[in-house]
Amino acid sequence: MKEIVKIKPEAICILGATGSIGTNTLDVIRRHPDKYQVFALTAHRNIEQLKLQCLEFQPKYAVLPEAELAQELQSFIEYKELDITVLHGVDSLDFVASHEDVDTVMAAIVGAAGLLPTLAAAKAGKKVLLANKEALVMSGAIFMDAVKKHGATLLPIDSEHNAIFQCLPEHFVEKGIEECGIHNIVLTGSGGPFLKKTLTEFETITPDEACAHPNWDMGRKISVDSATMMNKGLELIEACWLFDVKPEQIEVVLHPQSIIHSMVRYNDGSVLAQMGNPDMRTPIAHAMAFPDRVDAGVAPLDFMEISQLTFDRPSKERYPCLALASEAMKQGGNSPTRLNAANEVAVQAFLDEKLGFTQIAELIQQTLTSTEYAEVSSLEAVLAADKEARERAQQLVVEMTAQS
Ligand code: NAD
Ligand code: MG
Repeated sequence: MKEIVKIKPEAICILGATGSIGTNTLDVIRRHPDKYQVFALTAHRNIEQLKLQCLEFQPKYAVLPEAELAQELQSFIEYKELDITVLHGVDSLDFVASHEDVDTVMAAIVGAAGLLPTLAAAKAGKKVLLANKEALVMSGAIFMDAVKKHGATLLPIDSEHNAIFQCLPEHFVEKGIEECGIHNIVLTGSGGPFLKKTLTEFETITPDEACAHPNWDMGRKISVDSATMMNKGLELIEACWLFDVKPEQIEVVLHPQSIIHSMVRYNDGSVLAQMGNPDMRTPIAHAMAFPDRVDAGVAPLDFMEISQLTFDRPSKERYPCLALASEAMKQGGNSPTRLNAANEVAVQAFLDEKLGFTQIAELIQQTLTSTEYAEVSSLEAVLAADKEARERAQQLVVEMTAQS
């Protein structure tokens, strides 16, 4: 008689469970309860959503940053008689991300706050599904070293990087771009909601207009980044680290329909593209199931409905943030860290209606020119550069607000 081997579901820790990537990840998990099990859920402020997620997925741990919120969640869990341990504080994020019972960590916290737990997951040798691009932009060399040193598996969730990963040959990691006969990487971007807006109207753009992306439904920070195309700039830096290429080996192409998620151009004239409807459940399901494939709940691509795919060059006047990011990566050292910190401060100030839309790029540029370049060889140096740039950017917000 054949023995029936029951495979244990993969234990997943979701950092940033209540966000756009977090909820899409849970939707994929919901479709495959035999394959995946939620081990831990973490959130920042959205406690009502976390309560619902705890009820449905019954993780072992739920983590919140503040004691007061954690207490509220604890009372709810006791009332519902659930077997969930509630933790709070930054160290608790590292604890769940590196827990020995965790197989896979979805890194979906937005911004620099995601760096330490994502790094903790890498150092614990986990399968890391990386959505939190800011972590890699801030500390690319250190993060990639940790992945190699501790035998972690890094799979990209950002749709472009996931697309590139799908278009690369299997032996890419051992051989690299040249030996694989790759000419360059083509990073596509929609151009965001202001692709056609006249530049004179940019002064009066509101946060809600900037967050209304034509193709993707995302968190507010990344939505603003998409409108300025800093998102593409951060993605260029992310691609350099993930695929060990230089900024010159990446071509950014505007593709307003967001159907081709990125491409790899080979020396023999072939260009491989990955296509699909703009739905983050595709890259999430791809990375979760890799190298297998599972249903992601995404509608099949209807070519008759799309009817055309168009391409264009990004304009430097419209998207100054793209050049700032590319320049920061070429400079190296702590420049991407300072760029990322300044961008986070600028975007928050724009969302809080303290800065205008065009002041985002101005503030980043001024922060970069008024903080010190340095080489970075330690995590402490990264965190120090992040802190210095953040403080300088905050000062600049105050000065710019006073002037206007
Ligand atoms: P979001 O704002 O919708 O969600 C962010 C999550 O992080 C929430 O769960 C929130 O509770 C948590 N969080 C926020 N600040 C925190 C803090 N200080 N400490 C701990 N947790 C905190 O963001 P999102 O759109 O899901 O994006 C998440 C990450 O994924 C970002 O780095 C973004 O660039 C990247 N990404 C998102 C998309 C997308 O389609 N949304 C696509 C590609 C990449
Ligand atoms: Mg992307």
